[in-house]
Amino acid sequence: MGPKTAIVQAGLTINGRRLNEIPKPLPQLSESEIERKLCISRVMTHTLGYLTGRLLDNKFEWLLPVMFSRSTDPLWPDPGASIEKRIEVEIYGKTVRTTLSMIIHKMVACSLAFEKLFILSPNARIERRDRADSGIHAYEFTQLDFEMRGASSKTVRSLVEGLISGLIKSLRDALRHELIHLGRFGSLIVPETPFRVYDRKELETRFGENYESKLLVKIHEPVWITNIPREFYDFEDLDRDIWDNYDLLLPQYGEVLSGARREWEYNKIFGKMKRDEVAAENYEELLKLAGERRLKPSAGAGIGVERLVSWLAGAKHIGEVQTFPRIPGAVYDL
Ligand code: ATP
Ligand code: ASP
Ligand code: MG
Repeated sequence: MGPKTAIVQAGLTINGRRLNEIPKPLPQLSESEIERKLCISRVMTHTLGYLTGRLLDNKFEWLLPVMFSRSTDPLWPDPGASIEKRIEVEIYGKTVRTTLSMIIHKMVACSLAFEKLFILSPNARIERRDRADSGIHAYEFTQLDFEMRGASSKTVRSLVEGLISGLIKSLRDALRHELIHLGRFGSLIVPETPFRVYDRKELETRFGENYESKLLVKIHEPVWITNIPREFYDFEDLDRDIWDNYDLLLPQYGEVLSGARREWEYNKIFGKMKRDEVAAENYEELLKLAGERRLKPSAGAGIGVERLVSWLAGAKHIGEVQTFPRIPGAVYDL
């Protein structure tokens, strides 16, 4: 699909939020659209400054990202998986994959060297074309990915709650004019903490399989969902059939964060890879470290930066918060 055909009037209502159009590339924006882009960009700049600042205050190490590795997130099994294509290339005679998430690197770095770390990590996920209409999927985006050795899920959730409520307070103080311009000053309220926690099994009983979209239109503040079956690295209590993991949902927008307490024992990790048909040969170093008992218990999460800013700024589409939109199915020149 060429860029022109991508600029369609979607006219969709997603989770109670109207998606007016698929965002255009920067050179095609009118003056008033550039003005709006500038306001959104200030929300992004403030958000990045605030979140990295608070993590540094809390003695997190700031690591730089990697883009090519033999091991990356399998993104499988995941009930919402929507990857159309996985990028593998050969360099120096070895097959590497572009980063789908830095989860494996986080677990290793946190175990071996850094008790608390974070990374602004670019993820390349070639999402299915129909994901353009969700308004929250881009094919390149950034996670603010962090990990803490020995932490519990509750510690991670409290940290995130403090970061988000502090960020909104600080945005309202620093960017009043921009939030008014974006029509968000009245509605972007500092949420009460702790956020409400829902168990996935209870949501399934109440709403059925499509529980996430049903919940999204009912909530007015961020909420947690826990106990979600997914990739091997999230901790699973096999006897009680409970996963020690969590997603954070934003009203009308959807999931903004996934995280968990992690597996660290060789037998469990290897057993789950076999069960889930994940190629163990792509995780040799992780398995070796686990086998040597050098992998340590940790917990963490990744915040989708563009999704967070979409919600804060009231964006109509995630492409609006990207200077150079990465919309599934639409490849612009820049
Ligand atoms: P979804 O189910 O919404 O597709 P996911 O569960 O596959 O997302 P994760 O693997 O949990 O995504 O990624 C961590 C975070 O990165 C998500 O919570 C979200 O904020 C962000 N994220 C994931 N995929 C995208 C995407 N295609 N575009 C923008 N942000 C994304
Ligand atoms: N960043 C996520 C986590 O910390 C993993 C993912 O991207 O799926 O669990
Ligand atoms: Mg997720």
